[in-house]
Amino acid sequence: MTHRTIVWFRGKDLRLTDHQPLAWALQRGEVIPVFVLDPYFFAEARARELPHRMQFLLESLTALSAELSSRGSRLIVVAGKSTELVPALADAWRADHVVAQRWVEPFARERDARIAAALGDRFRLFEGETLLPPGTLRTGSGKPYAVFSQFARSFRREAQVGVPLPAPKALPKVPEDVPGSTPQRDIPTLEALGLAPNPALQKGGERAANQRLRAFRLGPAAHYGTERDRMDHAGTSRLSADLKFGTLSVRQVWFELERAHGESESGQKFLSELLWREFAHSTLWDRPALLTEPFREGFAGFPWRTPQQVPALWEAWTAGKTGYPVVDAAARQLLTEGFVHNRARMIAASFLTKHLLIHYQAGEAHYMKYLTDGDWAQNNAGWQWSAGCGCDAQPYFRVFNPTLQGQRFDPEGDYVRRYVPELAQLPARYIHAPAEAPADVLRRADVTLGEGYPAPVVDHALARERFLELAKQHLKGAKE
Ligand SMILES: Cc1cc2nc3c(=O)[nH]c(=O)nc-3n(C[C@H](O)[C@H](O)[C@H](O)COP(=O)(O)OP(=O)(O)OC[C@H]3O[C@@H](n4cnc5c(N)ncnc54)[C@H](O)[C@@H]3O)c2cc1C
Repeated sequence: MTHRTIVWFRGKDLRLTDHQPLAWALQRGEVIPVFVLDPYFFAEARARELPHRMQFLLESLTALSAELSSRGSRLIVVAGKSTELVPALADAWRADHVVAQRWVEPFARERDARIAAALGDRFRLFEGETLLPPGTLRTGSGKPYAVFSQFARSFRREAQVGVPLPAPKALPKVPEDVPGSTPQRDIPTLEALGLAPNPALQKGGERAANQRLRAFRLGPAAHYGTERDRMDHAGTSRLSADLKFGTLSVRQVWFELERAHGESESGQKFLSELLWREFAHSTLWDRPALLTEPFREGFAGFPWRTPQQVPALWEAWTAGKTGYPVVDAAARQLLTEGFVHNRARMIAASFLTKHLLIHYQAGEAHYMKYLTDGDWAQNNAGWQWSAGCGCDAQPYFRVFNPTLQGQRFDPEGDYVRRYVPELAQLPARYIHAPAEAPADVLRRADVTLGEGYPAPVVDHALARERFLELAKQHLKGAKE
């Protein structure tokens, strides 16, 4: 008897290469590829909360649909609550299995538990978002790791990263009796969801992802170790959205980069960044409360302010008008391109939480809204790290000086010039500290502080002291 399997693509696995659920289904017989437009993400009000991710997702979905069709299958798109619809479809289509790739987030695990309750062992989850199943690595005493270097050492010691599976050359036709009684839907357009396309975003889809991977492997990868922190250079892979939406499997990225560059320091540095990603996912798996609480208990109840309490400062940070050029460049890169360089993310997040004393969760939500690579585990880890309250975080008493960071990692000021054009004429010497520039330098560069470009919204030294004092008081006596 031939088996019939629904392969449920869920938005973090939008590829055919190294897709473990699809490979499993193919071995067994009939395959029905499905994508569910769940109102959790696709209701208009929800979609408006993720404009850039939605654009990348819809492009990737359209590309996936074309790839499935070109191999003899087709993507069936249906709309409804997945917890109700997926079990109903499995029955209506007489599928003996529904297979999907695992997600690590608590809300996703709850969704999966409900589907498992309805379908029992007809529902099977496969790995693919991470290199190892989340929660695999344990300390000697059986606990989850809380220190990255130990996690990474354990990974290198124990993990065998498998060889990625090739994309199938051909796929079986979707059986004639499907979709049965369920009305099919087209992949929605951005406009239908009330969103305007942003031409500055990366292009979605597995082909575009592979081109990016190849370009990185043949180009910047060789100098990644020294170039990755330069905000003014294109020295990183730009694969984060592909890893988020699964247009590339992390196993494929690991495999190709290790083969090509594993012997070099740059190659090892890159693999280590993939392990930071792995660490973030594994940590969220083991500690689901992290999406709502700080990792370091001592930070519970920390007197961070809400955006509503300090609306002018919040507006300055989100719009890129703080008077600190590199912080402002980061804010504007986010809004225009849906991306921010990692170094700039760290500086901007540190500034919001330590200089402006605004809650990291407000920054986290703002980033989640506009980042194309916005990912719950990664973004939460990045924000908690920057605020000093996360798992193996930057110690709270390290407060980035945005001016020095800019001078060090954007030495010519080109990163600032690209996103803060009002400062473009300033010489490199003053571009990260316009408030220190002599009047004639400002005049020649056509900059009037407080008019075209704001004066700093806080004084660095005072803000630093204020944060340190507050943190010292708050953490005093905290049991950790
Ligand atoms: C405040 C803050 C928020 C962040 N939010 C996200 C997010 O929502 N989604 C996201 O993918 N990354 C996030 N990061 C991590 C990092 O900034 C991005 O992964 C990276 O900038 C993406 O660019 P890239 O693909 O060119 O990275 P590369 O330098 O080429 O690195 C390759 C891959 O390794 C992983 N990686 C790199 N740096 C880190 C890191 N510091 N932590 C964890 N994984 C890393 C990413 O998957 C990345 O694509 C955040 C960092 C901070 C400080």
